[in-house]
Amino acid sequence: MEIIKNASLQCLNTFGVDASAKYLSHIRNLQDIEALFEWKAKNDLPNLILGGGSNLLFKSDYQGLVAKVDLLGKDIANEDDEAVYVSAAGGENWHEFVIWTIQQGFAGLENLSLIPGCVGAAPIQNIGAYGVELSDTFHSLQTVNLENGEIQEFDKEHCQFGYRESFFKSQTLDKLLITSVTFRLAKKPEWHVNYAGLREALAGEMLSADIISKAVIEERQRKLPDPANIGNAGSFFKNPVLKVKDWEVLKAAHESLPGFPQSHNDNVKTSAGWLIDQAGWRGFRAGDAGVSDKHALVLVNHANASGAELWQVAEDIMASIEDKFGIRLEPEPRVIS
Ligand SMILES: Cc1cc2nc3c(=O)[nH]c(=O)nc-3n(C[C@H](O)[C@H](O)[C@H](O)COP(=O)(O)OP(=O)(O)OC[C@H]3O[C@@H](n4cnc5c(N)ncnc54)[C@H](O)[C@@H]3O)c2cc1C
Repeated sequence: MEIIKNASLQCLNTFGVDASAKYLSHIRNLQDIEALFEWKAKNDLPNLILGGGSNLLFKSDYQGLVAKVDLLGKDIANEDDEAVYVSAAGGENWHEFVIWTIQQGFAGLENLSLIPGCVGAAPIQNIGAYGVELSDTFHSLQTVNLENGEIQEFDKEHCQFGYRESFFKSQTLDKLLITSVTFRLAKKPEWHVNYAGLREALAGEMLSADIISKAVIEERQRKLPDPANIGNAGSFFKNPVLKVKDWEVLKAAHESLPGFPQSHNDNVKTSAGWLIDQAGWRGFRAGDAGVSDKHALVLVNHANASGAELWQVAEDIMASIEDKFGIRLEPEPRVIS
């Protein structure tokens, strides 16, 4: 395992923040994982597991070792009468994996097309879009414990998936490296096309995974700024989940407040983007840090904003939303200082 000293992370995070790591290594195979494990035993420094860097904000330089996961490989692991089981290594690009499953004739991941990042990071926040979450098709995953080298298999129950949450995000960040993930894709697919934007685009269409994926891609390209053109990490805040009575009080004061009742409890999810828009933040700019004019939920780096400057905008938004609506927004990306 090669270790690079004082490495730039600018190309390794989609905000394009010019932070550096004291040490950087690329994890390409089992030997690299073993070497990382040995390095950790000898060096009393923190480590950060990095995928595509699309859900991170480097608030400052990282004073430890960044382990960039570049494990590759994907295959059809198994099949029964009802489903196929497809696996991909942690460093595989998520979107390319989704397209590969569709090309094999499988369905189930199409609504999650074009989400940036790697397969190994996808379970960390149980990625979701257009009414579908990773947990809907998740079967199992494999990890290596970077403290003792132990290999473990997790089934769905043990991953404790929730809205942008998992066991790995709340309990084992940077300890358990996800080496591969397996999905169960049903042979009789259920289409999820009732989400606003998709429903209209697909009205009258003969549905297939390919058609839905293309509609999702078009919708995402229309609505979201592309990190290749302007630095960002997608939605910067989670949608707040409110108790029904709190939502009703807010709704009485703001007639157009969106509300999505949760099927598994009595809570109502509302839109962080709507709240931020109402507070007038869309298109805000302070130096090179700002809020997208395409989507109020997306913080953007116009050119050379530092992580601290972007975080300042995030903090100002959180304070303003709390002041105006009494809701404390929670950041979705991991903030690293
Ligand atoms: C334009 C844009 C749109 C987006 N849209 C969506 C969306 O619709 N839905 C959604 O849910 N997310 C969305 N995201 C957020 C992001 O793409 C996802 O969270 C993605 O899964 C992050 O993957 P990554 O490889 O970039 O992870 P990173 O940002 O590199 O890491 C994220 C977290 O996962 C950990 N991690 C990474 N790899 C591993 C591994 N192999 N093992 C253990 N831990 C690991 C990291 O330590 C970190 O805590 C969007 C981001 C952007 C930039």
